[in-house]
Amino acid sequence: MVSFPRSGMRRGLCVWPGTRQLCLRKNLLFGFVHFLSMPLKTLRGVSRSLGISHLCSVAKMSSTLQIEMIPCLSDNYAYLLHDVDTGTVGVVDPSEALPVMDALSRKNGNLTYILNTHHHYDHTGGNKELKEMYGAKVIGSAIDRDRIPGIDIVLKDGDKWMFAGHEVIVIETPGHTRGHISFYFPGSQAIFTGDTLFSLSCGKLFEGTPEEMLASLKKIMSLPDNTSVYCGHEYTLSNSKFALSIEPQNEELKSYAAQVAHLRKKGLPTIPTTLKKEKSCNPFLRTSSAEIRQSLNIPATADDAEALGVIRRAKDSF
Ligand SMILES: [Zn+2]
Repeated sequence: MVSFPRSGMRRGLCVWPGTRQLCLRKNLLFGFVHFLSMPLKTLRGVSRSLGISHLCSVAKMSSTLQIEMIPCLSDNYAYLLHDVDTGTVGVVDPSEALPVMDALSRKNGNLTYILNTHHHYDHTGGNKELKEMYGAKVIGSAIDRDRIPGIDIVLKDGDKWMFAGHEVIVIETPGHTRGHISFYFPGSQAIFTGDTLFSLSCGKLFEGTPEEMLASLKKIMSLPDNTSVYCGHEYTLSNSKFALSIEPQNEELKSYAAQVAHLRKKGLPTIPTTLKKEKSCNPFLRTSSAEIRQSLNIPATADDAEALGVIRRAKDSF
């Protein structure tokens, strides 16, 4: 029996640290109707996770989307999306098939969708095998229709797509690659940023300019501060060392870096992060910081894109 700490709850979102899953509010009425028809097994699972005293209030109010992190390769994360009402399951950026299959078999689940943020092999490597095994539909950017293996559904900036009743807004976020997109779930206050925004860094500029990356990051930053950010890699510890090297007086960064080091020492993930945290600590979102500019000799007259370019080059050779 895992009891659910009251302090872990914010705005209908709850976290139980053992599984790094989130359950999130979707739709009041839908949730109530499905609560009545939930199989006993699901209710038992909910009661185990939340503590029985929370069962009625949570289950009556909401249907849920669970997000489960799946470590892949050496430092990639795929994410399993599970709508508990319909049993619909999707996966974001499966680098490889096997860990995803393992996670699915633990849930006794089928896979309906594969969501790709961009075409790189360490984000799409599991596409073909998973598609063959489960018949899942592959979703990605229209710009990458010729580069994403097995792509079925193409989306573009501003498109709204529904995942089992959860609205998903597609945000084109080029810079790392031309066709990079991020998937924003407003009802869940979550965004999957692939290799555009990491905790304490951004992706390398393989196919884009600093101007494009800056514009992409600004789109993400325009979302609410409490948005949870699920990125494609566990790079936070090494990113924190670079960030501290160019902004050593940033108190919030110092404290976050210590927390990150502690988590990694215990082998725990640092993801998800939040936009609020990143705005305070991530040097690529802090191009106007006087301390960063001084550290890297960026003139006061340089605009934010120029500054981002300098920070990116410094990080590339750090
Ligand atoms: Zn990439």
